[in-house]
Amino acid sequence: MGAKEFVINLTPSPLVKVFAKPYVAGQGIESGINTAKKLWEEKKLHSTIDLLGEEIKEKEEIEKNVQIYLDLLDKLGKQEFASVSLKPTQLGVYRDSRGTIHGTDFCYENIKNIIEKAKSYNIHITIDMEDHPFTDLTLDMFKSLRNEFENVGTVLQARLFRTKQDILNLPTNKMCKIRTCIGIYKEPPEVALQNKNDMKDKLYEYMILLLERGHYPEIATHDEKLIERCIEYLDKHNIPKERYEFQMLMGVPREKTQKKIIERGNIMRLYVPFAEKWKYAVAYCKRRLAANPMMGAYVIKNLFGKTTGR
Ligand SMILES: Cc1cc2nc3c(=O)[nH]c(=O)nc-3n(C[C@H](O)[C@H](O)[C@H](O)COP(=O)(O)OP(=O)(O)OC[C@H]3O[C@@H](n4cnc5c(N)ncnc54)[C@H](O)[C@@H]3O)c2cc1C
Repeated sequence: MGAKEFVINLTPSPLVKVFAKPYVAGQGIESGINTAKKLWEEKKLHSTIDLLGEEIKEKEEIEKNVQIYLDLLDKLGKQEFASVSLKPTQLGVYRDSRGTIHGTDFCYENIKNIIEKAKSYNIHITIDMEDHPFTDLTLDMFKSLRNEFENVGTVLQARLFRTKQDILNLPTNKMCKIRTCIGIYKEPPEVALQNKNDMKDKLYEYMILLLERGHYPEIATHDEKLIERCIEYLDKHNIPKERYEFQMLMGVPREKTQKKIIERGNIMRLYVPFAEKWKYAVAYCKRRLAANPMMGAYVIKNLFGKTTGR
């Protein structure tokens, strides 16, 4: 653990709660749904709603999470503004202290049940990508589920060396919705790039490769220069608006850019997490604080009413 992560881990939970406010919809399903509705009604922003929680080992809690997702889908029903995101390690997969992974079949069945219910409402499900020991099993699950369902997508992280091959290995006869991001997890140099600019060059390259292979990239970044670069390519090559979308995390101050993207006629989707247990919201925010220590500065500015207006 680096010094930055060490300090952030020591940050008391009530303080993290203050930082969490702009980034987390609140507690309970209703908070996620209400936030997504408001974003749609007031700003025409799409959402992907996510239940916070990861690395869960207790069967009872996993089953409860499955039920929360099923309830979320029932409450969302047929609508046009929200998809749903989930993580394998909140739905059955876990690693033990030796790093051995367990629960893949259980997790697969749980995710399949959620996708089946989502299909009845025409809701898209994204399987989030966690750190690299989970990449193979997540992609295997995705590919198998994609054979049966249209309403499932996943995530590829531009920082991983393997990602180009993973794109080439996606089904060639089926359009896959792939969120392409740099990846939030700090990964070792044996498996991943270490320089952020290099990761962003790769994100750009992978967006193009996904389009060339007939897939649907979900361009997930807050980097405005990178967004401009992507838009330049998309416009120059007359890529239809139905072939891609942009995504950001709720709470990151990018209002102007989001508005511009919507005015272009593109889908701009925000990641809208809600918590059942506060400890998971704290974990989510600590990870984002570690990746973006500036997050604290933004929150303090916002608390005092000086929004950046970006
Ligand atoms: C919709 C969505 C879903 C994601 N899903 C996954 C996933 O499944 N797996 C995964 O590994 N990663 C996921 N990520 C995280 C992603 O990989 C990056 O870690 C994150 O988006 C930051 O990278 P960036 O491209 O915005 O570049 P950065 O260089 O990190 O950020 C660009 C600019 O935005 C600002 N910024 C970025 N994040 C914040 C923040 N939280 N608060 C304040 N300012 C901020 C930075 O300060 C910087 O100025 C997701 C991101 C998004 C937007």
